[in-house]
Order: sequence, then C-alpha cells, then structure tokens
Amino acid sequence: MRREDNGMSDTHKQSIEELSGSYRDIGRQHGENNAAHIRYLLKSYGVSEAAPWEPAHFLDALSVHLPDLVDEIHGIAEGSGCSLKEICGLSFLIDLGTAPTACTGVVFASGPDGPVMGKTCDCNPGLQQVWLRPRLVKPAGQPAALMLSHVGSPNAEMGMNENGLAIGITGLPSVALDHRGVGWQQDIRAVLHRCATTQETIELMQMIPIRGFGYCAVAVDAAGDVAIIDKVAGAMGVKRPDGNVAYVTNIAQCPEVIPHTTGLSENGLGRMALLKQLCDDESQMDFSFDGLLRMFHTHGEPVGLCQHGPELHSTTGFFMLPSKGMIHIARGHTCNSELEAFRF
Ligand SMILES: [Zn+2]
Repeated sequence: MRREDNGMSDTHKQSIEELSGSYRDIGRQHGENNAAHIRYLLKSYGVSEAAPWEPAHFLDALSVHLPDLVDEIHGIAEGSGCSLKEICGLSFLIDLGTAPTACTGVVFASGPDGPVMGKTCDCNPGLQQVWLRPRLVKPAGQPAALMLSHVGSPNAEMGMNENGLAIGITGLPSVALDHRGVGWQQDIRAVLHRCATTQETIELMQMIPIRGFGYCAVAVDAAGDVAIIDKVAGAMGVKRPDGNVAYVTNIAQCPEVIPHTTGLSENGLGRMALLKQLCDDESQMDFSFDGLLRMFHTHGEPVGLCQHGPELHSTTGFFMLPSKGMIHIARGHTCNSELEAFRF
C-alpha cells in the first residue's frame, strides 16, 4: 500500500532527532536529516523565492542578538540543499503571517516530585502537526536541551535543558512590529542554551526584542522558581504566581502587556476559565507528576485541556520534572498517549 508522501518516514515520526557541535554543524545535520520534509513544508506553505522580502530583512536583527542562530539557518540551508531565502521563509513563517497554534502550560512550583511543568501543543490536523518535531540539541560548550521545534527552523516552542530550566510558550499576537527584533521562538531557543534559572531567563528575554508575534510563556527552574512572562513586540511583563500553580493559555496576564496585544483567543479564554475552576482550591489539588498529567487529561465544553477538535487537537505534550532532569513526551492526544521518557 502506498502511503501519502508527506516527506517523513515512520521512524522519523517516532525518533527524537539528535544534533550536536557548532551551530553551523547543528543546522547542517538538521538540514541533511530533514531535506525531504523541509521541501514538503516549503511547497505546502507556499514559501517562494519570488516573495517580496530578502533574508537580510530578518537576519540583520537576528545577527545583532543571536548570531549563533544565523549560523544555524545557514547550516540548515547547506544541509538541506535549499536556498537561504527558503529557510528564512520557514524560520520566520509566523512573523510573515501564518495562523499560530494554541497551547496550554501549567506549573506546580512544588510537590512530591519537585517542581513539575506540563505543556501541550494543540494544532489543526495536517500541516501544522507535521511541522513540529522533538529534537535534542547539544551545542559545543553550552547546556543540551530537549525541545519541540518547527522543522527547517532554529526555533523552539518549549523544552527543558540539562540545568533543569523548563520553558513553554503559547502564542500571543502583537499590535506593533519591531524590525529590530528576532523572530518568534528564537529568544526561547537562546534561553534553553544559556539559562539555568528562571531569573536568568527573565533577564535574557528582557534583553532580546522580538519582531512581531509574541507569547504568554511560563518558566520554572530546578529550585521551583516560577514566572509567567508575557512578551510581545514593544512590551514585556512578568507575573509571579500567588500560590503553587501557574498557567498560560494564549491570554496575556500582565496588565502592562495587554494594550500591546490583539485578537483575543476564544479557545484560550475557554481553557483559562477551565484552569481557574480546576485550580480554585489549591488545598484539594494533587501536586504530584501524576496529578499534573491527570489535569491534562481533562476534557470539557466548549474546550478541554486535552483537545479533540473539531479544529484544534492536542498534538504533542512535554511533561517535565526539572529537579530530576526528566521529560515525558506525549504524542497525540494526552489522554490516550503512551508517554516516552527521556532523562538527561
Ligand atoms: Zn483527550
């Protein structure tokens, strides 16, 4: 029987891609491993050589703040045999105007298993789902990190590094456009290779402006320090949780950031209301890893934390134990996925 050719093999679907060396090497390896997949994505997203922009529009700002990622983008182009413009098109696709994904992040700062973070990525079936893959990246001289990333880009939407710093983002549209900023998720990638603590993460994210599309992020370190970080073009805010729980659902929570955002997500509001209800009485909550997982199995009307369409489906979940250096990956719907364990 002939499978539909979407540029990836079954083994590719199952494995965690491992990349190491200089950023150029990392890019080259990723390009070589994923050349067919990248070509499929370019064709499906309609990334064209004729588009009215030049790589320099994006790479000039990136080279000021994160030159390593410029090297990696060059490496991906070399390894995949695609042009620099094509790889820039994938790396900055969200900033060029594609519909984002919806996601939920929840942290328990302390509990019987130490701090725990759950983060799901909910996508429309098809192209959005096949664009995201887990990878383990080990840059020479920097902490290794396991992350979920868009294939053909140096970006990262969530992950944890070997220091136990865990971070996950949910998308948040900006009002402004800042041509001096880096692309969506590129500062998150830098956090994963440079930071050990939540405080260092906040400081690094403050130093790097982003171009357009932004985040509601949640970060936790091995000591259980938690922060919600709202960041869009031209504004960033940090909120420390009142109790043991923090969550993000594509809705800004920092008052100073709200005027800089646009397009309130109905789905995000629904998940925010559900989480408020689930976390209403912390004295009744189970703060263990199993308790976190059970929370992510919650279905509901109009939306659950485990989403089953009609549009958005929970596609990949990272369930992270920062003080133990462990990550469990759920592929597909969280409620019926067998977890795949990874330990640093
Ligand atoms: Zn489910």
